[in-house]
Amino acid sequence: MGGTFDPIHHGHLVAASEVQSLFDLDEVTFVPTGEPWQKEGREVSLPEHRYLMTVVATASNPGFTVSRVDIERGGKTYTIDTLRDLRAQHPDADLFFITGADALAQILSWKDAEDLFDLAEFIGVTRPGYELSEDGLPADRVHLQEVPAMAISSTDCRDRVAAGEPVWYLVPDGVVQYINKYGLYRPEGEV
Ligand code: ATP
Ligand code: MG
Repeated sequence: MGGTFDPIHHGHLVAASEVQSLFDLDEVTFVPTGEPWQKEGREVSLPEHRYLMTVVATASNPGFTVSRVDIERGGKTYTIDTLRDLRAQHPDADLFFITGADALAQILSWKDAEDLFDLAEFIGVTRPGYELSEDGLPADRVHLQEVPAMAISSTDCRDRVAAGEPVWYLVPDGVVQYINKYGLYRPEGEV
């Protein structure tokens, strides 16, 4: 599951857990992006913060891991590169890429879109506020999956912290504490 994870929240975690169970996956690897190319124009937190929040959020689940491939590669993150790196690390694995309905709808605009489906099967999950559809995508390589609806976004979490509102129970406790420890998402001068 790729993402900016700025911060990781319970929408990500529920989707991953549900797909892991339904598709009987040995492991879900969360892959925080280097520079997310779709998010040019907004300040994204340092990769190391996003990586560590993802580690904190997933540490207690033996079926969850976090990969640094996108962070170590540096520069803009394209999913095709993520999948090529994961394939090289796990030559015999069946790879599935988990993505929310909003990201799935944009997949054909991603770099080397035609090759993505050779490297992995895609599992598109429902997300409140977005239509889940496989229009234009290869039906044999794309699965649509309903997951418990969590109307949570990282954008909303950042806005809440900036406004002094709580993010308890939207993100894992350790992530709340991490955000507070480093003063993430606070308006400048308020840290
Ligand atoms: P932002 O608001 O900064 O874009 P986000 O909440 O969309 O953050 P991302 O890191 O962009 O989180 O998302 C990573 C992946 O998780 C994407 O595939 C996205 O569609 C999916 N996702 C995010 N939130 C949810 C949710 N609440 N339910 C299901 N899928 C989600
Ligand atoms: Mg997003």
